[in-house]
Amino acid sequence: MTVTALDPAALVPMEVGERLARLRGSLAEDGIEALLVTHMVNVRYLTGFTGSAATLLVRPDDALFVTDGRYRDQSGEQLAAAGVAARVEIGLTQAAQRELLAEAAVGLADLGLEENHVSWARERELAEAFPGVALVPAGSPVEELRRVKDLGEIDRIRAACAIADDAFHSLLGRLAEGVTERQFALELEFAMRERGASGVSFESIVAAGPNGAKPHAEPSDRLIGRGELVVCDFGCIVEGYCSDMTRTVSVGDPGPEARALYDLVQRSQAAGRDAVAAGVVVADVDRAARDVIAAAGHGEHFVHSTGHGVGLDIHEAPRVAAGAGDTLRPGEVVTVEPGVYLTGVGGVRIEDTVVVTESGCEPLTHTPKDLIL
Ligand code: ZN
Ligand code: ZN
Repeated sequence: MTVTALDPAALVPMEVGERLARLRGSLAEDGIEALLVTHMVNVRYLTGFTGSAATLLVRPDDALFVTDGRYRDQSGEQLAAAGVAARVEIGLTQAAQRELLAEAAVGLADLGLEENHVSWARERELAEAFPGVALVPAGSPVEELRRVKDLGEIDRIRAACAIADDAFHSLLGRLAEGVTERQFALELEFAMRERGASGVSFESIVAAGPNGAKPHAEPSDRLIGRGELVVCDFGCIVEGYCSDMTRTVSVGDPGPEARALYDLVQRSQAAGRDAVAAGVVVADVDRAARDVIAAAGHGEHFVHSTGHGVGLDIHEAPRVAAGAGDTLRPGEVVTVEPGVYLTGVGGVRIEDTVVVTESGCEPLTHTPKDLIL
């Protein structure tokens, strides 16, 4: 069987070239003169560079991108294609790269570091490399920018969700043929990559029967049996952007108790999804989903938070959790994924990835929520 693979040329372009200006705006607000971006996902976000090693020095009026010889051609090509205004320099050794950055930092009073990504050892190394410049903790300014997605980013997440939907749909029949959890997970990965995904966005979870009681179970060699609840949580990557979806299914009738549990989680998931809208505090989304499960007496069996942001990382800001005070904005992409887990029995989780809109949300995952196959 041949499948149609994603055509990257059909994706909506991203606004990569505008991100440095947005970052400078937020740095100025925080009183930070310049930022040294060392976390590769953030370098990618700001420049379009997809390699594995580079450093970006963002100053008020210019930016310096430094990488090594492996990326001599790729770096210039990708930054130019993304419309990013930064000087590109190649340093063949780590010391040469540090020298290039230090030269460009002359005259700065202070330099912000991405405080959640710089190890103690790296901080010491940088302090030596930048004499006379005060290194200051700068929070996570790029992660903050990444929360609200542009239309191109949403289109990539949408494409990744569509691939996951289609791959899952194509394989549902396999569950009835007697496959192991591991086989099904592997076939799902193959089907997603066949459709144009560059890889999985996290190790797929396929957990049948009692294994489903562990929210992050690893697929085992256990055969998936008829009438068992099977928790399938999986996603893929399109141009760096992740998808995330969970469906719980059963080959044949899993019985009245399992059906009731499924119905409960489905109502909880719908309540959570209905609560998502711009201006809503994420803790209220968590509460909307959690209240339904708690009212049925299963509060203690819902052992994780309701959701998380999705983008270049599979888990990113904001966390949709009890006590979290972030307010949702249009263009943020979050999951809604309540679950109930009964030790020794099994579990149910249902998860959609949605885009926050002014009046509610738009689901990006569209696989139907029928329990029984
Ligand atoms: Zn998931
Ligand atoms: Zn998730």
